[in-house]
Amino acid sequence: MSSDGRYAPSPTGALHLGNLRTAMIAWLFARSAGARFLMRIDDLDPQRSRREWEQRQLGDLNAIGVDWDGPVVRQSERRARHIEAIERLKADGCVYRCWCTRTEIREAASAAHGPLPEGAYPGTCRRLSASERFECQMRGRPPALRLDAGGEQVEFEDRLHGTVSGWVDDFVLQRGDGTPAYNLAVVVDDLDQGIGEVVRGEDLLDSTARQVLLSRLLGLPSPGYAHVPLVLGADGARLAKRHGAITLAGMPAERAREWIADSLGGISLDPADFDPDALPRMPTTFGGL
Ligand code: GLU
Repeated sequence: MSSDGRYAPSPTGALHLGNLRTAMIAWLFARSAGARFLMRIDDLDPQRSRREWEQRQLGDLNAIGVDWDGPVVRQSERRARHIEAIERLKADGCVYRCWCTRTEIREAASAAHGPLPEGAYPGTCRRLSASERFECQMRGRPPALRLDAGGEQVEFEDRLHGTVSGWVDDFVLQRGDGTPAYNLAVVVDDLDQGIGEVVRGEDLLDSTARQVLLSRLLGLPSPGYAHVPLVLGADGARLAKRHGAITLAGMPAERAREWIADSLGGISLDPADFDPDALPRMPTTFGGL
């Protein structure tokens, strides 16, 4: 498989130092391997995604020296491919309709026992009888589509975490309003774009087992993975606006590059010098600039 990489921001706000640092690391991984680096805008959520944020994010990435090959791809324009994959899973009999509300899922998940992680969907609608299903249909709320994951435990290799294994719950493939879900879209798009190595924030490590299972069910190879430790605020929470001036609106791009390099142990940001094994394995605390 190639070493082609990508960065895939959601255009819902300005990128902060943690995001810029992850983008820089993903770029260093690809460029140091002489591979392509692609840019994808994860704008599946029409309510929260804005073109203005997309433009600002791309401008900020450019300003810190992250460049990319080919045109920027928008997930919202790839819907036909996402639906094709869902149809394929349906044809294989591993999709079911789910009418549960968020509250119902929360309640059912807290009552469920077993190997699934906290908050995981416990499969309520998978077990509906034909008459119960009919009743749900009559309520008129359009159902989401879920994958029947079969209670699988999936193992994968991560460049920074080693062997990781996770239980996969019956996660959503398509929302009730027809929007393809993140896990489905990311698998289809990474494959179509020829991504060989997914480098992204550690907050997405928990979703990866789902994506690996999905690739397998679609008969597709999984890319390699490297989940990068996050940047935290002084209070130990994930970096956010309240932690201060953390976007390029509050600092020159050169200052952001210096901070990124320092936070990575004083490395050079030249791909020729990049050594993935030297990356920190623990979260970085941002104490201001
Ligand atoms: N769009 C996602 C985010 O901004 C990242 C998706 C991914 O890298 O798989 O959190």
